[in-house]
Amino acid sequence: MICKEEIEENLRRYDKDNITIATLCSHSALQIFFGAKQEGFRTLGICKPEVKKVYDSFPLAKPDEYLIVKDYNEILSDQIQGELLKRNAVVIPHGSFVEYVGSKNIEEKFYAPIFGNRKVLDWEGNRKMEMEWLQRAGIPLPTVFENPSEIDRLCIVKFYGAKGGSGFFLVKSEKEFKEKMKNADNSNRENYLIQEYILGIRYYPHYFYSPILDRTELLSMDRRDESNIDGLYRIGATKKEIEDVGTYVVTGNLPVIVRESLLPKIINIGEMVVNSSVDLFPPGMIGPFCVEMVCRNDLEFMTFEISARIVAGTNLYPAGSQYSCYLFDEPMSSGRRISREIKLAMEDDRLDEIIY
Ligand code: ATP
Repeated sequence: MICKEEIEENLRRYDKDNITIATLCSHSALQIFFGAKQEGFRTLGICKPEVKKVYDSFPLAKPDEYLIVKDYNEILSDQIQGELLKRNAVVIPHGSFVEYVGSKNIEEKFYAPIFGNRKVLDWEGNRKMEMEWLQRAGIPLPTVFENPSEIDRLCIVKFYGAKGGSGFFLVKSEKEFKEKMKNADNSNRENYLIQEYILGIRYYPHYFYSPILDRTELLSMDRRDESNIDGLYRIGATKKEIEDVGTYVVTGNLPVIVRESLLPKIINIGEMVVNSSVDLFPPGMIGPFCVEMVCRNDLEFMTFEISARIVAGTNLYPAGSQYSCYLFDEPMSSGRRISREIKLAMEDDRLDEIIY
């Protein structure tokens, strides 16, 4: 693990009046660049040649400069990292950045300053550690079954590293587990989590923890469209068909709000997750994160997953959201909020508190 002191040393050499906001051109990069420009930063996109034209076609969101790579492995090279340091770059990690560069590589080989706390990568990347984090937060969670023989209700089987629900399946018994596992097309078949399936309505609130303002903000919320589970009702699929052929791959996102009387529970969950993170991996969660939850018919929220970074569902709100408008008197996306936090930290000479 690259130590915090090394990152701070790199940061000390930065010209603080000329910080560049950098990220990989994918996932939520348009929103990140757009927000950084609104906050007055220079922007830099790390990009494969074929992707550049996508970003060029959005003049208000395209980065001021590109670093072109043929392969995402190059991001770890001294050459690319040197270019980042030369430009006083703060790198914003998003899902594709973590996926393409690799969380272990980021922890061990990526010495350019990253917004947030890179220690979180271990905690969100391992499904068991992630559950421990959420358990310690004291929020309601679905039961996890250590052994298939314990399965006594509808469960969802999730593979580690299977991003976006790919390969997940539903089972109601050990027998069904064994049958479905035989057909599971997953190279990581040894590493899975058997989690109680929660019936209800899914919500994916987007939070932001600000160490500078010392508050957890609810910026926006979405629901994911997942294929093919969200389409099965159109053919009147039976319960059995849903359990047998339903898959959970994200294809899009929908804007959503909750009944106002449910907001206290959602806000509490965000705060509790931040509080437990401080003990587990100090200084804890920094910046944007999303707690994935299901609201049951007794109006309790059961949390099944956390994404400890900006999520793609925030792309619905580049011009602010139905919640951010009550926090900021200007359009505030999660992407812009990151740059705002960097700006606030710079004004207070506290940049090192939000970078690792
Ligand atoms: P990502 O990293 O993109 O969030 P993932 O691979 O970690 O995806 P999850 O988000 O845990 O996968 O699950 C994918 C989908 O499966 C969820 O969006 C939800 O629809 C469904 N799901 C997961 N866990 C549960 C659960 N315990 N009860 C009901 N539905 C669930």
